[in-house]
Amino acid sequence: MRLLIVEDEPDIAFGLETALKREGYLVDVALDGLAGEDLAIERAYGVILLDLMLPKKSGREVCRTLRRAGITTPILMLTARDQVDDRVEGLDAGADDYLVKPFAIKELLARIRALGRRESDRRESVLSVGGLTIDTLAHQVQLDGEEVRLTKREFQLLEALARNRGRVLSREVILQRVWNTDDALPNTVSFHMKSLRRKVDPTGVLIHTVHGLGYSLRSPG
Ligand code: CA
Repeated sequence: MRLLIVEDEPDIAFGLETALKREGYLVDVALDGLAGEDLAIERAYGVILLDLMLPKKSGREVCRTLRRAGITTPILMLTARDQVDDRVEGLDAGADDYLVKPFAIKELLARIRALGRRESDRRESVLSVGGLTIDTLAHQVQLDGEEVRLTKREFQLLEALARNRGRVLSREVILQRVWNTDDALPNTVSFHMKSLRRKVDPTGVLIHTVHGLGYSLRSPG
């Protein structure tokens, strides 16, 4: 899971980054509200840690902007002890939870896990497009009622496309969501896309290449 830390005190920001990376999370850091907002809009995060008092744009404003933009990523607001009254406003602005600084890393990890879990429960577990049915909990795929066997990557790729059906996913977004990286061999996506298409879309009616943009999964007709 990729996390975003928006925190203007470098010691706290980079201390958290180190601690969270040690737990296996991928972490991005933004040191002001605007930079944080840009990243949150651009990339897919599992949870956003958002300080309340930030230069350029406050945590509360960032939160409100993201919610207005339709971004539902769980937001954990970080507040100083003397701003505890502000936490209510943070929650009103669309944050999911808050933590008062200074906090124990253990507490932070528990909150992140809980928010991540809530998010995955909230998401649909069975997706269908055309003759395809994707059961994301059982990790099973059927095409016109017949089971199709996919590799782990093919499955993740199909799930990412199906969760965004009708929309175009760029190679960059696919690399981030499926491979958790920006840095992969240039042919990685097309290689797996080719084998996925052979298995789930032999007639080429579901997965479309949008030249220069990416890929899109759509119901035929
Ligand atoms: Ca601050």
